Amino acid sequence: MTVRLRAMLATLPSYVPGRNIPGAVKLASNETHYPPLPHVLARIAEVAGTINRYPDSNSTTLTSALATKYGVADEQVAVGCGAVSLLTQLAQATVDADEEVLYAWRSFEAYPILTAVAGGSAVQVPLRDYVHDLDEMAARVTGKTRLIFVCNPNNPTGTAVRRAELVAFLRSVPSDVVVALDEAYREFVTDPDVPDGVTLLDEFTNLVVLRTFSKAYGLAGLRVGYAIAGDPAVANALRQTQVPFAVTSVAQQAALASLEPEAEAQLMERVAEIVAERTRVSDALRAMGYEVPPSEANFIWLPLGEHTTDWAAGCEDRKVIVRAFAGHGARVTISSADENDRLLDAARDLAESVPC
Ligand SMILES: *Cc1c(COP(=O)(O)O)cnc(C)c1O
Repeated sequence: MTVRLRAMLATLPSYVPGRNIPGAVKLASNETHYPPLPHVLARIAEVAGTINRYPDSNSTTLTSALATKYGVADEQVAVGCGAVSLLTQLAQATVDADEEVLYAWRSFEAYPILTAVAGGSAVQVPLRDYVHDLDEMAARVTGKTRLIFVCNPNNPTGTAVRRAELVAFLRSVPSDVVVALDEAYREFVTDPDVPDGVTLLDEFTNLVVLRTFSKAYGLAGLRVGYAIAGDPAVANALRQTQVPFAVTSVAQQAALASLEPEAEAQLMERVAEIVAERTRVSDALRAMGYEVPPSEANFIWLPLGEHTTDWAAGCEDRKVIVRAFAGHGARVTISSADENDRLLDAARDLAESVPC
């Protein structure tokens, strides 16, 4: 007999990690190209000497540091093994069989997977002009909706919803439905009209904001993210659904070291450089004839439609790896000026092959 597994697994889309090819420039996973700060590496080396012991399962010190940083109560914060883990835990904490998880599509590719694994039904609302269609999403809320993901800025399009439309949406959602505002790229946002989700938590206690140390803070390999909830019950539910000891002592200490003022200031300088490169690369691509929706993240979106796969293969021939979503578009991470120039060279070569 073959082993009996859940039928859902056969229909599960797989999470496609960015490809690694020796000698190629990897612009496929929205990582930072900067190496870890020496200060953070030193802290990691220090804590490495204690890894014969289990970590603090509640990440108490890091939780408090984050609560202080954001001016919220410790009880509103939950730390997790990457924001992806917290998103998964949220689905486990809110959704029973056949209840609904609502989100825009295309958006973060983890959403369909974690929804299905939790046993929920996905309700996907197409983006409009590459942006969340919040009016349509509001219209799709039903008595079965238990969880809503709003990815802002949206992965993979880089687009962001503004304060007025987000607040109107949140007012329309029943206050017992959890809304997860995925702000994995918050640090790269420059438009002041794009709200900081934390400022909305007082008005909307059903809101929970997700952040990560993986992108702007450069700790993708360590796996540490956090949630800040309007209602401590949501943060508590995240602690209840966590795999014990999921956040390693090394990850906790590296995150704490990154939050120290000097380290954080250095990290935000790096963010500013990436943001400047985002403008340069977007403008250069537009000058070549490409459509580039305005990005508030550390990546850009090229809506190449049916040409996506060929274009991405052309980039790969030129040793530049982008993230292709067949039939939709290519997502390209903003990197160092040199690596971005490699992308621009490839895009220039390939511009004729796509009708812009
Ligand atoms: C990268 C990313 C995350 C964060 O992932 P980690 O698990 O913290 O590495 C969360 N949401 C979105 C939309 C992302 O792109």
